[in-house]
Amino acid sequence: MYTVFAGGVGASRFLQGLVQVADPAAVTVISNTGDDVEMFGLHVSPDVDIVIYALAGAVNPETGWGLKGDTFAVVEELQRYGYGRWFNLGDRDLATAIHRTRLLRAGEPLHEVVGKIARAWGLTTSILPMCNERVETRITGPEGELAFQDYMVRLRTEVEVHQIRFVGAAEARPAPGVVEAIERSSAVLIAPSNPFVSIGPILAVPGLREALAQTRATRVAISPVIAGQVVKGPAAKMMQSLGHEVSAVGVASMYRGLIDVMVIDEQDRELAPRIEGLGMRCHVTDTMMTSTERKAELAASVLRAIGEG
Ligand code: GDP
Repeated sequence: MYTVFAGGVGASRFLQGLVQVADPAAVTVISNTGDDVEMFGLHVSPDVDIVIYALAGAVNPETGWGLKGDTFAVVEELQRYGYGRWFNLGDRDLATAIHRTRLLRAGEPLHEVVGKIARAWGLTTSILPMCNERVETRITGPEGELAFQDYMVRLRTEVEVHQIRFVGAAEARPAPGVVEAIERSSAVLIAPSNPFVSIGPILAVPGLREALAQTRATRVAISPVIAGQVVKGPAAKMMQSLGHEVSAVGVASMYRGLIDVMVIDEQDRELAPRIEGLGMRCHVTDTMMTSTERKAELAASVLRAIGEG
């Protein structure tokens, strides 16, 4: 059994590969909910939905989020009533948000709601939110604190990041099944996700970091940084402004003590000795997931590297 710590786009690409080379029913995803947001009165869980849509083969391949072929008539029409147009929630995507919101309002815990949505999409992989409580990622920029989607979508990450905090994390507990999955897995994989705002919130849930530190599973992280750059998103800018080295070494340093193996790209081969110097093994492979085959090859290479392939 494998457990994967996951954000959105980078994680979902990796998971699309993993389920080609491992039994999807033997995979548990621990999903970041720090990006969750209330939009138009609806509870939107961007990272959870990206993973579900990707594993169901329904994600928009161009953006990596949202549903393939979705339209945006509802968010357009909402402008009539004065709502901002900055948040892109597709018409079909809204169905998921409506269903989630209704179940949550009826009192169902988030992990059961996420499970129902995943099963409705035909998934056998278990998708778990990191916790059932509300945890909000907030970004402090030059002009003060911002809600995560304000920073990410409205301001398109174009502000310097001074600080990141996860409001509510101290009172949260890992969702039912999360610690058990980490304990029972033979490998725990940290997807090539943003270490600050995708993996950071997961590790901020009390008990979760400890479970990862103590498990007998082999713990592996795949670098989202290749040749000093990210494939997409703000991780590199965040590393820079928060004083980290913008490289796979910087990512490995953030996970020091929590992982046994760091997976880096061929282009970063020369960084391997420095990563091994941090007290972990370094596995070098092609980590650019530009096709279905390359996603599967990366997952297979990672599993082989830890004797699971
Ligand atoms: P988000 O929540 O949608 O931003 O998604 P994640 O945090 O899961 O993923 C964002 C990270 O995925 C970025 O830092 C990217 O560099 C990384 N990423 C995306 N595609 C690839 C890829 O093909 N290979 C690797 N190594 N990283 C990738």
